Amino acid sequence: MRYADLHLHTTFSDGTDTPERVVDRAAALGIAAIAITDHDTVGGVALAQAAAQRAGIAFLTGVELSAKFDNGDVHVIGLGIDIASPPLGGALAHLHDARAKRSARMLERLAARGMPLELEAGAREGVVGRMHVARALVTAGHAKTVQQAFDKFLKPGKPGYVGQTKLDCNEAIELIHAARGLAFLAHPGLGAPRRKLLTLLGLPFDGIECYHSKHSPGQTDQFLQLARDRGLLVTGGSDCHGEAKGRAEMGRVRLPIEHVERLLEGMTPHR
Ligand SMILES: [Zn+2]
Ligand SMILES: [Zn+2]
Repeated sequence: MRYADLHLHTTFSDGTDTPERVVDRAAALGIAAIAITDHDTVGGVALAQAAAQRAGIAFLTGVELSAKFDNGDVHVIGLGIDIASPPLGGALAHLHDARAKRSARMLERLAARGMPLELEAGAREGVVGRMHVARALVTAGHAKTVQQAFDKFLKPGKPGYVGQTKLDCNEAIELIHAARGLAFLAHPGLGAPRRKLLTLLGLPFDGIECYHSKHSPGQTDQFLQLARDRGLLVTGGSDCHGEAKGRAEMGRVRLPIEHVERLLEGMTPHR
């Protein structure tokens, strides 16, 4: 079966493989089409696109935007976006600045409590998040595990917590549409209760990410049915974050190629 993986991360967000490496791995697995969907950045897309062209793999541009909805977190996948879109680029630059300031604030607050921290090498400016700070807390001996570091220092109400600047879910969808892409509700099986899911789908999403490595076969069927009922497009992918640390999910989730063909048809009016 020819299949696609339209949810892949690279070193440009929190993945461990470079864009070129991601494409090489996809080629080795015989995947017919891929999309790079890094968190809040399109920095790795052009490199992956060039590599995919060389490898003869169909390629879709992409991004995974972190957004808030009803006091919760929602991920929005954009596919087929113009990566040079000024509104999208402006919003991503703003988020990048806000994230850099946030991690600096977290470190300041912890230092003021007698916990000066060194971040591990490789944690790039702007991509540094709570996870990096949590690891540094473990390394410095202030917590035994990353989970404990979160619980003791980095959760709301704890000394190192600083609120995050996030897009509103509607805003995330608008930015993707402004970049002439299609907007998908990412991995609805992770966390969103059914009632909330139906409210979310009242927003102008183009489709649902039905296939995902953390969805059970039953959930996938349920989301496929929901997409059919609502006339929405279907996407899916492994959400692979790389080969290191046993996170190599690529090849485990197979989006049947006919869904990609339908996505491309959905994009035609914009091109
Ligand atoms: Zn996600
Ligand atoms: Zn993801």
